[in-house]
Parts: sequence; structure tokens; C-alpha cells
Amino acid sequence: MFISFEGIDGSGKSTQARMLAEALLAEGQEVVLTREPGGSDGAEAIRRLLVEGGTDRWSAETEILLFNAARRDHLERTIRPALERGATVITDRFADSTRVYQGVTRGDLSATVEALHKLMIGIEPDRTFVIDIDPAEGLARGVARGGTEDRFESMGLGFQEKLRAGFADLAAAHPTRVRIIDGSGAPVDVAARVRAAL
Ligand code: C5P
Repeated sequence: MFISFEGIDGSGKSTQARMLAEALLAEGQEVVLTREPGGSDGAEAIRRLLVEGGTDRWSAETEILLFNAARRDHLERTIRPALERGATVITDRFADSTRVYQGVTRGDLSATVEALHKLMIGIEPDRTFVIDIDPAEGLARGVARGGTEDRFESMGLGFQEKLRAGFADLAAAHPTRVRIIDGSGAPVDVAARVRAAL
């Protein structure tokens, strides 16, 4: 089974990915917990180029290529081998992040993102959980934890609202695969919502 967690910056998706991984592990499943951008040596190297580069180092098109290069390496080296040996793979972000971050927020590049995904990646998670929170809360959480790897904190609430709407549109377009999970409240309560949805 292939599961992805998505959401805006500060949504708590990384905590939820880890909590689900720990719960399934405790039940005796083999679980591979991974993340994007990153999740393999090569993809982590590309992550550094993206995260250290700030938001204006790359054009939108170059950024899409870099995210796809990272994802292809992640898929070849980490995700596919794990799925083939029967493990459950839980990833903190996958292609939906590119659909929303690069596809919607930097002009309408959705068609480019979809075409490249089809050509170079080709698979979707079995289930995707979008951890949904109020962007103001997400920004506050990001500031609270130091936020050194967040690329978009400086871009403010309007930008995070746009991302949130992008994830909502994805869920509406793929109601079986993509579920919106209320991310408010304590992490254990959110984890219970994820478990119920799964
Ligand atoms: O999820 P995480 O915080 O690890 O992501 C690192 C940074 O890269 C975040 O600021 C996130 O918003 C950004 N990102 C992006 N496009 C993606 C995935 C992540 O700009 N497709």
C-alpha cells in the first residue's frame, strides 16, 4: 500500500505521517516512512538545491523539472523497491504537492505538471490524506518550530490560502484517493481521524 500525506506548510502532515507509520509498525507491518522533496540520496541532494535556493533562484519550469527529477530518483531507489517487497510506503508529500505548489501558484502550469508526471512518474498513491488547517495557524506553527526549511513563510496568508484551495480542488477531483482530514486540535485527535479514514 502506498500512502501520501499532503498539506500546506505547518499543517502537521509530517507529524501525522510519522504517527501513522508508528501505528502500522506496531501492528507488525513493514513500513517505509519517507519524504519529498527527498527520500533517496540523489533526491535529498536536489532538495538542498531547491530549499537553499529560495523562491526566486529557479524559474517555475526549472523548478518543475527539479521536483520531477527528485521524484523519479525517490521512486526508483526507495518507493518502488519497498512496494515490490510488500512494504507499506508512507510519504510526506508526493506529486500532489507539485500539482498544487508548482501547478497552481506560479501561473497556470497544470498541463505541464500533468504531462511530465504521466511521462516520468506515472503512479499515484492508493490513499492521500490532506491535513487541512487554517493558514494563519499553519504560519504560527511554522514560526514556532523555527521554519528553516519553509520556502514560503515570507509569502504570507494569501499564498497559503491559494495552496489550501488547490488541495481542496484536488480532493474534489479525486474523491476516492484524496481525503481531506481536519488538522485542528491535538496530534492524537488528528491521527484518529486519519485512522478512521484509512
Ligand atoms: O514539506 P516540507 O516542509 O519538507 O517542504 C520543504 C519546502 O518545499 C516547503 O516550503 C514546501 O512548501 C516546499 N515545496 C514546494 N513544492 C513542492 C513541495 C514542497 O515548493 N512540490
